[in-house]
Amino acid sequence: MIYLDNAASTPVHEKVIEEMLPYFREQYGNPSSIHRHGRLANTAIQNARKRIAALVNADINEILITSGGTESNNTAIYGISSQSKGKHIITSSIEHDAILEPCKHLEKEGYRISFLPVDQYGFVNPEDLKKEISDDTCLITIMYANNEVGTIQPIKEIAKIAREKNIIFHTDAVQAVGKTPIDVKEFGIDLLSISSHKINGPKGVGALYIKNGVKISPLMLGGGQERGLRSGTENVASIVGFGMACKLIKDDVNEKMAHFKKLSTRLISRVLSEIPSTTLNGHPDMRIPNNTHFTFLGVSGEDLIIKLDENKISASTGSACSVKIQKASHVLKAMGFSHEQVTGSLRLTVGITNTEQEIDETVDVLKKVVKELRAVSPYKSKYNF
Ligand SMILES: *Cc1c(COP(=O)(O)O)cnc(C)c1O
Repeated sequence: MIYLDNAASTPVHEKVIEEMLPYFREQYGNPSSIHRHGRLANTAIQNARKRIAALVNADINEILITSGGTESNNTAIYGISSQSKGKHIITSSIEHDAILEPCKHLEKEGYRISFLPVDQYGFVNPEDLKKEISDDTCLITIMYANNEVGTIQPIKEIAKIAREKNIIFHTDAVQAVGKTPIDVKEFGIDLLSISSHKINGPKGVGALYIKNGVKISPLMLGGGQERGLRSGTENVASIVGFGMACKLIKDDVNEKMAHFKKLSTRLISRVLSEIPSTTLNGHPDMRIPNNTHFTFLGVSGEDLIIKLDENKISASTGSACSVKIQKASHVLKAMGFSHEQVTGSLRLTVGITNTEQEIDETVDVLKKVVKELRAVSPYKSKYNF
């Protein structure tokens, strides 16, 4: 079995599992309880929070623990908009649904939402952002790195524009964490979303960095945990595991990035040189090192995924919703791709457990299945396969 869908989720690191186990078996106290069991659980959360904060150079009290990227994004959007007088939000047209859907919901509630366009590489132009800003703008939310094509946005420049206009800037960094160095202070970011299961931690836990001084309202009310910003008994074991996953990245981020880069470079160069009528999507350089995204003209990405799966290789078209409801990728459409280019797209994302041998095996299988699919393609005559 070869797993090349690390942008969708990642294997939980063995050290993360080990770190979590005591919190199921012995240290099961409620972190709000006064007794020893409670105090131990509470200390474990604080230690994890320290590790999460350290990964992005935040202060410990700037980390709100959530149930993952989706909740962090929702908290940023609803938590800020409900605090502000302004009723205008600027985002991009290539965001994850966990940004687009809350924005569209607010649009129905009377907010004005600007969905910034992107170029052929998936870049937002900071000049377009400047033009959209109005007196009514209460939030700018632009993703750090795209989950489909891997393009990294000019975040520093975008944050600077927001700061100059005194507008709160949020970034969905779920795909960027661990793949590019992130420093919220250096970059001037106000809010930043992280998800544990995209960085070899457990699912169902994540964080929202909230810069000191930024006021935000809670999505959930109750016992007042997380300083009133997220009520509900903390998921202690998962939080501890998430903390460990952050520590493991922090310990050898350069090594991990070099490993991703080595594998993806090999994958890209072999695919482009050995499979004709194939393109790499996203920017050639400004991309997270674990992402590859191709278009194989004349074939359907969904057929490719099925063929790869028959060969025990897990891959993706890149857009999660396309699997369920056959919706064409909004990201590729925003990048100006034709229907045919969108259809033929395939995302392969590498992770810490992948090997060079797996990459070579994958390319060999890809060569074979693309050839098979093209032999029966309706576009056969057009491309002369
Ligand atoms: C996976 C992902 C999310 C959602 O995170 P969950 O923890 O699965 O809720 C949000 N944004 C991006 C860019 C993602 O890749």
